[in-house]
Amino acid sequence: MEINIKTLTPLWTGGVEAGKCDRIHETGILGSVRWWMEVLVRGMGGNACDPTEQKCSYKTGLCEVCKIFGAEGQKRRFRLEVVQDNTEPDTAVTSTLQAERSNTKQGKPPTWYFPKDLKDKPRSKTFTIRIQSLDPKFKPEVIGGLIQFIADWSALGARPQMGFGVIQVEGSHINTQALCDWLKELNETPRSRSRATRTASASADSVPSSLRSSSRVRTLDLPTRSSRQLPTTRSSS
Ligand SMILES: [Zn+2]
Repeated sequence: MEINIKTLTPLWTGGVEAGKCDRIHETGILGSVRWWMEVLVRGMGGNACDPTEQKCSYKTGLCEVCKIFGAEGQKRRFRLEVVQDNTEPDTAVTSTLQAERSNTKQGKPPTWYFPKDLKDKPRSKTFTIRIQSLDPKFKPEVIGGLIQFIADWSALGARPQMGFGVIQVEGSHINTQALCDWLKELNETPRSRSRATRTASASADSVPSSLRSSSRVRTLDLPTRSSRQLPTTRSSS
């Protein structure tokens, strides 16, 4: 599947060289997507490792997120590519950005630094990503739904706390059902799945707790950002 994305605030996905952003980098997008997948998996009671602390591997076992995003001995189950990059360095991003508050210890306002060279600045306008499944059992729509979730509620890339990386999916809203279904399945172990068929007509009280929680997931409807306020650092485009 292909997704056309428009930046609402400049996007910073890093680069080959630290502190530079010469184009939209897939690794920066993947980092955000993985981070949000960890949040959602943990939120649904699933197991997601912290890649900075505990390392999953094919030999020692894989958490739900590493099963999809890959780990040692396990390939990522999808490919994410930027197939069209119409973004440009955003001239509105100055090389220093000061917060409107003072650092209590030093009495100075916190300051962030951005590249002085125009070509290395955070980028704005549109780009297209392509998501392909590398495993017939994995739907690329799971990742597509996550991109929509990020567009609705969060931001892509680095420095989202400063308002960077707010995006909009162009065209129609991506259906997040595949993502919901995938999250729902985390709570359904093969054992509880077989019990599900047996207890299909049973009353709610006799349904195992693992299934009760999964039926809660079934009603999960990822809302859209209709009332959310955008950060003030809007792109100039
Ligand atoms: Zn893991």
